Amino acid sequence: MSSTSVLVINSGSSSIKYQLVDPDTGDAIAKGLVERIGDSMGLIKHVHGDAVTEEELPVPDHTVGMREVLRLFDTEGPTLAEAGILAVGHRVVQGGRHFDGPALITNEVRDLIEELCPLAPLHNPAHLKGIDVARELMPDVPHVAVFDTAFFQQLPARSALYALETETAEKYSVRRYGAHGTSHQFVSQEIAKLEGRDDLKQIVMHLGNGASVSAVKNGHPIDTSMGLTPLEGLMMGTRTGDIDPAVVFHLQRVAGMSIDEVDTLFNKKSGMKGMTGESDMRSVWAMIHNDEDPETQQRARTAMDVYINRLLKYVGSYTAELGGLDVITFTAGIGENDIDVRRELAEALSPFGVKIDVEANKVRSGEPRVVSAPDSTVKIYVFPTNEELAIARQALTFA
Ligand code: ADP
Repeated sequence: MSSTSVLVINSGSSSIKYQLVDPDTGDAIAKGLVERIGDSMGLIKHVHGDAVTEEELPVPDHTVGMREVLRLFDTEGPTLAEAGILAVGHRVVQGGRHFDGPALITNEVRDLIEELCPLAPLHNPAHLKGIDVARELMPDVPHVAVFDTAFFQQLPARSALYALETETAEKYSVRRYGAHGTSHQFVSQEIAKLEGRDDLKQIVMHLGNGASVSAVKNGHPIDTSMGLTPLEGLMMGTRTGDIDPAVVFHLQRVAGMSIDEVDTLFNKKSGMKGMTGESDMRSVWAMIHNDEDPETQQRARTAMDVYINRLLKYVGSYTAELGGLDVITFTAGIGENDIDVRRELAEALSPFGVKIDVEANKVRSGEPRVVSAPDSTVKIYVFPTNEELAIARQALTFA
């Protein structure tokens, strides 16, 4: 085992995800999850090598949750002394205009993250709970905030701004911040390394339950699909993605829905789940392949067509913005595993000379790989993202 490591923490409203990362190899030395914080009974899972420990116990708040994590490191290993933790990296969703890179968490930085809560009301308060308790329990190592929005602070004004009246936009900080930035930055940099070139025109597709796409030119993002919040852009597991904002007015006026109801409808009850009843792509493909229920089959197929068409539109518009395209990279749960999404998108792009290697595309692997044919006009990669490693490396710069 490595004698040095970085502890990466992703603190959510009712959960704490953590991973002890070897920053040299990228391996997870140990990882775990505390769930159902605040419920009558919580659940903790800690994985160290092949040993998996699961415990049910009350976890009334994040302080108890974090103490339990540290206890599990002590009892199940590796002990924190053995692990040689050099830094703690905290994932933070919203860094607003304040942060264009990782930041050492001082009291001032902590307060700035708090100031940004109105822009990420579900996420930033939950991150702060994790940050506060981790700083208290591990006071001797640097704590570093790594922001999901930081990479996209480089977006040019033409793609960062909405065509909203300027005074209102500025007063209420309404602009496009993007999300999944740590992943888009990590993946685009790794692809540039694999290609041995910095002057690449890249599209990165981070397709998970939440999904976003970015256009990266010469190492810098020039556009991305998520906006003020992660709701904008691609169709997702439970989110609408792009939708005419007038639908909000319509549903208020005609259906009498409140703002909170529309918020829940767009963020939690729409997307794949809203159109098919299932948010997981594996279930949607199972419906598409089930001939015994033609009505469900048709509904699922139509939802998939909407999904693929949205991807296609973004590839088209980003290729135009980039002034050409060298590489498309698929990453995250769907991007790395869904053979048919990759194949259908590539087939839709075939009029532009994009050719997938059907056999290479079928290979299941955790390794970065090329899945396009040698004579494809655009190289297609599957690259497993590793946000924990990216956070660990950024945190380490302050150690
Ligand atoms: P997030 O981090 O946004 O929760 P992930 O990147 O973990 O999401 O992706 C989760 C999604 O990946 C699942 O909802 C599912 O749709 C998809 N997925 C995972 N494995 C497969 C697979 N083998 N085939 C198709 N889709 C998959």
